[in-house]
Amino acid sequence: MVITPREQGLKVAKAIETMDPQIREQANQANRELATKQHQEFKEKFAKGICWHCNKPLTSFDAREPCPHWLLKPEGFEKKHMEVLTERYSWEVLDNFLRWVANEEVFAQNINDLVDEGTGKIAEVTIKYKNLQWSFSCGGNDLSGHEGGGELSKRPHYHFQMYVDDKPFIRYNDFHLPLHTMDVALLEAKRANPKIYKRIVGGAGMAEILHEGNLENIVEHLRSGDGADEVTAPFKMDTFIVAEPGKPMKAEDVQRLMLEARAEGVTFAKKARQMKNVNVTTVVSAGPGVIEQKVRSGRGRKQLRDQDRAWREQQKRKD
Ligand SMILES: [Zn+2]
Ligand SMILES: [Zn+2]
Repeated sequence: MVITPREQGLKVAKAIETMDPQIREQANQANRELATKQHQEFKEKFAKGICWHCNKPLTSFDAREPCPHWLLKPEGFEKKHMEVLTERYSWEVLDNFLRWVANEEVFAQNINDLVDEGTGKIAEVTIKYKNLQWSFSCGGNDLSGHEGGGELSKRPHYHFQMYVDDKPFIRYNDFHLPLHTMDVALLEAKRANPKIYKRIVGGAGMAEILHEGNLENIVEHLRSGDGADEVTAPFKMDTFIVAEPGKPMKAEDVQRLMLEARAEGVTFAKKARQMKNVNVTTVVSAGPGVIEQKVRSGRGRKQLRDQDRAWREQQKRKD
């Protein structure tokens, strides 16, 4: 009996879903410990210019030995090598490696996996490191397989884009790259329940930072920028204060809190909560320092997002 990657992936997804919660938690714990150790090793080697996967210099290239570090574009790596690389290594492995790399430059801001900034695909992410940018994209049709790209597009696959010095090196429509079993399992689980989110030790992107459960933490503990680093800010916080009916709000109270927040180095959002007889709403979103998602299609959302960012800039200038 031949079992397709899709069937295999669905089986794994089902097995994980129906696993005894206690056993699943133990497995997760063991995985996290292993990943923490591996991430530490990665960091040590990366600092010395050595690849965690193959133990060779990150600048080395051997066409007979595919390795995720090829995506750092050592001399000799060309577009045509992409297929042999992705036959050997899954999306999961490549994504994890690139996330670790990106976080060596700046934490989380180089990884835009925010659902709000994508185009509604099952999984979309753009990752940056120095002059390199990689994007992965998988929509429902890709996961199920679609016509239009020969046999390769009929199997579960994803699309990949790579920019070097802001110029395209690999384009989304160049390849239909194979999803491996665990990729299919995770993506099928996500398709069934879009809220499923896999934490990657050492590979946190903006989705994890701006996760619902983390927002309170940001408002409470973030130190407010002094203005000088606004271009690189990972967050944008908009706080709306609305007076309760019949209870006017004093402008000087708001101003005083703003000054206090600045003096104490805490966020205004945190200070605003001390006000009486008002409703305070804070919206936390990705700041201007976050890499933009290079989306595959559906320009609409990107434009909206750009407009939104432009609008915020305008508001800032008005202040
Ligand atoms: Zn390597
Ligand atoms: Zn496709």
